[in-house]
Amino acid sequence: METCSAAGEPAAADDLCLEQSMKCSHCQEPGATLGCYNKGCSFRYHYPCAIDADCLLNEENFSVRCPKHKNKMVKGSLSTEQSERG
Ligand SMILES: [Zn+2]
Ligand SMILES: [Zn+2]
Repeated sequence: METCSAAGEPAAADDLCLEQSMKCSHCQEPGATLGCYNKGCSFRYHYPCAIDADCLLNEENFSVRCPKHKNKMVKGSLSTEQSERG
């Protein structure tokens, strides 16, 4: 169950709730648009926060990998994952 309470204002729009749920994993503020590239990872950041949190940013497709998942693509181990789809 998700709780979504606006401060003072009556929660009329669900869009507000949606935005609230997009909380930055770094600064805890809503409106974080950069989600971790890893499927299933709920980490998301603002652009400056992703940098500050030492995430791996891919400016080609504006994806971000949280510090936890960016280590998965260390060079050397070239495993064949068939989950690549764009
Ligand atoms: Zn942030
Ligand atoms: Zn992640």
